[in-house]
Amino acid sequence: MKKLSSISLLGGPAALLTLTNAATFQEYKLLPSLQIAGELISLHKNYPNLATLSTAQEAFNLPYAGTDQDCTFDNTAPGCPNFFLTIHDIIAHPIGSPSEKSLPEVFLSGALHGNERVGPTAVLETAKLLLSAAQCESLPHFITPPDDPNTEEGAEWLLQTQRGEACRQQLYKLGITDAQRKWLARLVSTRRIVVVPMTNALGYDRNQREEGDVDPNRDFPFDVSDPMACMQTIAGRTVNELFQRHLFQMSLTFHAGTEVVGYEWGAFPYLPTNLSPDDAAQVEISSGYSRFAGGFDGTKSYETGTMNELVYAVKGGMEDWAYAGSWDTGKVLQCEPTQYGGYDMQKTVYNESTLRAFNMLIETSNSKIPGNHLGTNQDILNDNTYTNNGHVARNIRLALMAIELVEPYVSIWGVNTVPLKADVVPLIPRTDRLCIQSKAMRIPPGQKATTIAWSVGGGFTVDYTTIMYAKWEDVPDVMDGSYQPRNSEVGRGFRTIEAMSGPTRWKQGWQSDTSTASGWESQGQPMYYATIDTSEFKPGDKIAVFATARLDQGWANQPDGFKPKDMPPMSHVVNARTNLDWRHESAGKIIQGRKDWYSIPLTLVIADSEDDDIVIDLSDRFTMPGMDGSTTPQKTDDGKATNEDSRMPSTLSLIVIVVMVLVSVGLIYIVGTWIRNRRPGRERLNGIDDDDVFVHEFTFNEGVQLRELG
Ligand SMILES: [Zn+2]
Repeated sequence: MKKLSSISLLGGPAALLTLTNAATFQEYKLLPSLQIAGELISLHKNYPNLATLSTAQEAFNLPYAGTDQDCTFDNTAPGCPNFFLTIHDIIAHPIGSPSEKSLPEVFLSGALHGNERVGPTAVLETAKLLLSAAQCESLPHFITPPDDPNTEEGAEWLLQTQRGEACRQQLYKLGITDAQRKWLARLVSTRRIVVVPMTNALGYDRNQREEGDVDPNRDFPFDVSDPMACMQTIAGRTVNELFQRHLFQMSLTFHAGTEVVGYEWGAFPYLPTNLSPDDAAQVEISSGYSRFAGGFDGTKSYETGTMNELVYAVKGGMEDWAYAGSWDTGKVLQCEPTQYGGYDMQKTVYNESTLRAFNMLIETSNSKIPGNHLGTNQDILNDNTYTNNGHVARNIRLALMAIELVEPYVSIWGVNTVPLKADVVPLIPRTDRLCIQSKAMRIPPGQKATTIAWSVGGGFTVDYTTIMYAKWEDVPDVMDGSYQPRNSEVGRGFRTIEAMSGPTRWKQGWQSDTSTASGWESQGQPMYYATIDTSEFKPGDKIAVFATARLDQGWANQPDGFKPKDMPPMSHVVNARTNLDWRHESAGKIIQGRKDWYSIPLTLVIADSEDDDIVIDLSDRFTMPGMDGSTTPQKTDDGKATNEDSRMPSTLSLIVIVVMVLVSVGLIYIVGTWIRNRRPGRERLNGIDDDDVFVHEFTFNEGVQLRELG
């Protein structure tokens, strides 16, 4: 049995290399297996509370595929280990806690076919980007700054604050804005993401499609008739073991040979209708993937559709197995392979919960090993930056969107145009109403118009969104700042406002949608606003404000002719947001259906005196409260003046803070100027008719490639 510690020696040099280059401009390259293994090991080392690396051999006692001639990235036993990285914020969601069990889960498979080589790099780079942003956003690891800088705690806070500023600047250099960094941090800290870059580790290491002589994407027990003809590969068993231990709702399986985002059905019994009971959601999600991934020089955005139509039907494919294995049970059988000493038949017995994922097939590129146009890490999250896009870059975005869409969320942005500095802060506990400290704003007493701004994510259509508020003492105990309550638990203490509807930023054409009452702002996404009267609250009162939203109810609609007929939507993703009765528990994980999703509450603290006439963010972790009562105007991220106690008793500390503020304000100005200067160029490019740009350069090499797809 090989241990990670013994493998890690190999990863050393590569790991060092990537760490020093973590935040510098680079063109993506398709990484060899040695480098992928090395980088995974360094992620495990560098983000101990966010990422855990293991192998299928270590965790599931699976054999190694290959011989003593194999494995350039591992030489401690014959054959190759199958690495998987689990991204999970274990401080915010400790193992065994209620929130940990309810984390929505996402699975990313880099390559079932070892010679289709964009996926492994794309999913590894996705993990790197997520983790670096989340780690950065977590600094400083304080819910609020310590009162006194001249203490050990104060010194630690100062150090972490400086590190936080430094890594933010590194991310700015790559074009990642404050809002984008916070978004990435949210994805890390509100989901569990299992990343398997080299699913077919042996095939990837040998640059061969199969694992040995078996095709892993015909090796799953869905629509196969011979029990000896499934779970023959370690790649297939690795995926199987992971699905048995999780409740994945979203999954991507990367391949290459054409350029397609494909969804169910991809199986012979469902020819020629091809449509699944979850078609409405799959259509919208796949087209969202295609838009956010985008196109580039000579390459169009991904075509989307069913695998039956766009690729072809297969027997034993991973895609339909992961979607339907728990409910289309007539097509599932127990495997009895003979390879590697056999495989316990019980491992292919599935409960009703395990296999209900949206597991989309991403055919990344016509070339299985594209030599150029891989894209760069500059402006990676700006989907319309034409020049920097490429095969790896666009699939990083696509993977991020899968992680985004696994679950709806609502996020309060700020009050009366003053933004909250933080959204979801990783590596900080979230229960026990710690949010009263970590998300709080002070507002003047007697204020009749307190305008709350919020946004909605994790879906496309906001069917219903509103604000509800009450004094904290009237909020039911169960609402601890982390828990998503059921409607019956919310009680009667809340006041609310008229509900609104509208799009999220993922909805096609939201920029031109003016159908709702809410205004649009330049936050890069639709913002919702509501004005409440807080004049009746007394100084010192603490008001809990929740934003709540209902999303994508249209996903429960079904098209004509879907099969199997008379089935309601069967996926977790659709039911988790449309069906109150949906509840699944498996392997210690829980999916509870709900319609209404609640933000982390914002606490409004009514100021003691009418002299405190400005809204301020009390939860700004970067600003230390003053020793006396005086206040000093301070610039926020967006250059808006707020009032914040920022007096520092130590001269040295004061100098450091002033320098940091000047540097960050200057940097924001530079980045802002640069973004403003860039925008016309992007718009001009986007304004060109697609056909004008692409028609001469786009080629689709059908004959050769299609034979080996899927
Ligand atoms: Zn393939």
